[in-house]
Amino acid sequence: MSTESTTDAAEDVESFRLRARAWLAENMPRIEGKSNADIAREDENGVYARKLQKILFDGGFAGLCFPVEYGGQGLSLAHQRAFTEESGPYQMPTVLNIPSLSILGATLLDFGTEAQKKRHLPKLISGEEIWVQFLSEPSGGSDLAGLVTKATRDGDIFHLNGSKIWSSGAFRADYALVLARTNPEVPKHSGITVFILKIHQPGVEIQQIKMATGANEFCQEFFDDVPIPIEDVLGKIDDGWTVASRLLFHERDAMGGGSPYLSGQGQRGHGTSNRSDLIELAESNGTLGDPAIRQLIAEAKINETVGEQLTARTATAIKQGLVPGTAGSIPRLYSAMTSERRQEINLEILGTAAPVWEPGAPSRQKSLDYLMRQGGSLGGGSNEMQRNIISERVLLMPREYAADKDKPFNEVLHNQTPTRPR
Ligand SMILES: Cc1cc2nc3c(=O)[nH]c(=O)nc-3n(C[C@H](O)[C@H](O)[C@H](O)COP(=O)(O)OP(=O)(O)OC[C@H]3O[C@@H](n4cnc5c(N)ncnc54)[C@H](O)[C@@H]3O)c2cc1C
Repeated sequence: MSTESTTDAAEDVESFRLRARAWLAENMPRIEGKSNADIAREDENGVYARKLQKILFDGGFAGLCFPVEYGGQGLSLAHQRAFTEESGPYQMPTVLNIPSLSILGATLLDFGTEAQKKRHLPKLISGEEIWVQFLSEPSGGSDLAGLVTKATRDGDIFHLNGSKIWSSGAFRADYALVLARTNPEVPKHSGITVFILKIHQPGVEIQQIKMATGANEFCQEFFDDVPIPIEDVLGKIDDGWTVASRLLFHERDAMGGGSPYLSGQGQRGHGTSNRSDLIELAESNGTLGDPAIRQLIAEAKINETVGEQLTARTATAIKQGLVPGTAGSIPRLYSAMTSERRQEINLEILGTAAPVWEPGAPSRQKSLDYLMRQGGSLGGGSNEMQRNIISERVLLMPREYAADKDKPFNEVLHNQTPTRPR
């Protein structure tokens, strides 16, 4: 599996850093007052993110760790980290990091045929295509292998029927990796196939879901006999669990902050935690001198620093083969827990400014973020599932009992394929 590829005569990191610094100053718009997350929120359809990504691509600073033959730069993780550090003062299309580049681009790189990689990777890296993941279903997301959306083969065409849910940003995307059951007569892990699905086509209906924050980021999709050509199978037919397991590895890596395909500051994970915005918050309500508030600011900083060290240490240990790839669940779990704590700290510092705010007040977004505080503990697999992975696959404790493990899927009791509400 290639997660990173380096050109033969890669430029050394320090000269790359200086070149990136000069290029960024010349070409990228500066962040003025707004974070990359704020900019992404205002750019609901991703038009501006695609534009920024194209500037990076044309300048030779997109897809730094993707191989040159697929539109990347073939550089190392150290180059990527240097670029991310340098890009701090600039607007960056961080919304394309997860899942488009770091999860789906990475999985395509691992399992795509030459034709699939040549067709899609340069467009993913230039921002011409945005990809999302269609994994979770209304009947449940944690038991991913228990999915009931099906793809029935007819010659060289599969017909997709069923429904997916909680797909982040599907309305603004072009393609999805969709998991579907292609053989119900074998145990659940053995009869799944992964497909590259063109999202906007007849038979695919997308409904945006309004969230408590007012955002419409989540979607539910309904598939009504959607044709998928056999050349859009990713990996082998009925062996989609192998592809899905790798996708989940990339997801843990990305959500934990360790992926080589994350570019720019403000991607999800503990890296978003920023001391100065807490200081500004405390200043705005006159509590910066309060020792209890100062403790909270220090706690956030400590969590952030420990997270960075944990991510780097785990990534190195995986690379050196000291721990299995599933150890990515450790920084992933830590990131989810500290991100939730960070939202609580925001609220504690805001005090009475949290539930009520004036238009444009800094408390507004922080209060809305609090409503989403548990998102990081579910997206990419819940905290409980990460703990299961750590105990069973990293610490090699006994596996959880599963009654359906060796049973043909069509003999297991489960919910029916959901249909579109009429
Ligand atoms: C911010 C965010 C973004 C998301 N983006 C996407 C996306 O782009 N695409 C997509 O397909 N999905 C996405 N999801 C969905 C996400 O993957 C699921 O929410 C998650 O996998 C859990 O599935 P579920 O919500 O169906 O909960 P369930 O699977 O129904 O679980 C309910 C509860 O039971 C616990 N539980 C279940 N099984 C076990 C077990 N064996 N041991 C211990 N506890 C267990 C879970 O931890 C959870 O607390 C996103 C979710 C969030 C919050």
